[in-house]
Order: sequence, then C-alpha cells, then structure tokens
Amino acid sequence: MNKCGKCHLCCEYLLVPLSEIPDDAAEFFRTWGVVVGKSGDGAILKIYSPCQHFSGVGCAIYKKRPIYCREYECENRNVLAGKRSQAV
Ligand code: SF4
Ligand code: SF4
Repeated sequence: MNKCGKCHLCCEYLLVPLSEIPDDAAEFFRTWGVVVGKSGDGAILKIYSPCQHFSGVGCAIYKKRPIYCREYECENRNVLAGKRSQAV
C-alpha cells in the first residue's frame, strides 16, 4: 500500500531546506516562482520540478520506483503516520 496517502510533494517539487533565508532573498526566489515556506526553525524552498514518472495523481512506476524513492526518510510521511505534528 502507498504510505504517502494523497501526498505527492516530493514527486512534484525539488525541496531545499535552509537554516534561514533573508527577506530580500525570499522575495528574489518568489519572483522566479519558487515557493518559500517555513520548516521547523528554518525555511524550505519548493521548486516545481515534477518527476517524469509522476502521473498527476501518483507514481506511474510505484512498484519499480528507484531505491532513492524507496529509502527516502520523509518527515511528511511521519506526520501522515501520526509520528510527528508538523510537515513541510
Ligand atoms: S515521501 Fe513524503 S513528501 Fe514524498 S510523497 Fe510521500 S509523504 Fe509526500
Ligand atoms: S519515481 Fe515515482 S516515487 Fe520516485 S519521484 Fe518519480 S514519481 Fe515519485
């Protein structure tokens, strides 16, 4: 079973965690269409870059997805499983 539920964040976005981001830098990224969000005490850049195997609703090669996708330690998945309260 797909443990990600309806989430497909990492299949659609390149996620870049940062310890901090100055306001003017955040504004610069936004002008390029990059979503600037909060993640814990820091920030995260969400760059739209969908995987070629993303079907629009999920992974088209889920059973054969690469090992990087299988072994990705995901905080959002911990939230979905009730192990954490905050996600990206
Ligand atoms: S691994 Fe995490 S971010 Fe990626 S789709 Fe699953 S729950 Fe979402
Ligand atoms: S191969 Fe599948 S699970 Fe991996 S990033 Fe692409 S769509 Fe997501």
